[in-house]
Amino acid sequence: MNAGTKKTSSVSGTDAASGPASCALAMMPRPSRSHWMAEPVEKMAPSKAKSVRETCADIVAKHGGEVPRDLDQLTALRGVGRKTANVVLGNAYGIPSGIVVDTHVGRLSQRLGLTAEEDPVKIEFALQPLVPRESWVLFSHWLILHGRAICNARKPRCSQCPLAPHCPRVGVTLSQ
Ligand code: SF4
Repeated sequence: MNAGTKKTSSVSGTDAASGPASCALAMMPRPSRSHWMAEPVEKMAPSKAKSVRETCADIVAKHGGEVPRDLDQLTALRGVGRKTANVVLGNAYGIPSGIVVDTHVGRLSQRLGLTAEEDPVKIEFALQPLVPRESWVLFSHWLILHGRAICNARKPRCSQCPLAPHCPRVGVTLSQ
């Protein structure tokens, strides 16, 4: 998996969060799949579906079909990087193993002046001391939602932003 902030990996966190069902799906012979389970994988682009199946095969081979609850074990799987592992642990198992840094979290962290780092892993480690561990999982969701709704990439809506009084707007040259 690519951990870059600007590129979506072939096996996204969302896919992995639905891991157990997807894994069962990938390893089951086609005739026994229920329609609702088969649809998601089969609707994926071929390369993405291939990656999901490979990851699922790895989970079956190494962990008896159960998605591990450990960061190192997850990142040892084919196609699973730190971001995906954090998504799975935080959202599927409620384990705050880290802070998920996607393109929104990376962008907002920089604009808010929380870090000048650009590498997702470095951003994550810069954020960890700033956010209480019990809020790590929600913090990512907060930034992602805010990034989608207000602080979008091309033209953030700073005039409508509740964070505006506290935001240094690092790197923002165009806003509305
Ligand atoms: S003030 Fe502007 S740059 Fe800062 S968080 Fe809000 S929308 Fe983003």
